[in-house]
Amino acid sequence: MPSYRIPNDARVRESLHRIFSTRPMVDSQRRLKALVEKDMKGDEKYRVGEPRLRVLAIESGLVNLEIRCRDTPEMRSLVKCPVCGERLKKVRNMTVYGGTVTLGYRCERCKYWTGLRRRVPTRYVFTRRS
Ligand SMILES: [Zn+2]
Repeated sequence: MPSYRIPNDARVRESLHRIFSTRPMVDSQRRLKALVEKDMKGDEKYRVGEPRLRVLAIESGLVNLEIRCRDTPEMRSLVKCPVCGERLKKVRNMTVYGGTVTLGYRCERCKYWTGLRRRVPTRYVFTRRS
């Protein structure tokens, strides 16, 4: 049995602070996960899931998140942000007939946005806030 421990939120946040005190940028989520797990490693090994780590990094206020996406032809309505889980806001426009039309969605927490053709996040770049 591999014995990994799951760190609590506070430990992950402390680790993020240490990491971004020594480097201005981490250019992928996988890399950030590796850095955090290495930072926390002592007598025991720790594991932190990438989506959880991403949300903790966003909530920490420590970093700006750049979300790189690829365009897909998929048209589907979205409720929750695929990046941070927040409820998405519809981006609407007035039509000439006096109604509104949905143009896409955006997230006020992490700034993810998409048109009706879905943009799928492929890479995250974490940059320390100055
Ligand atoms: Zn979001």
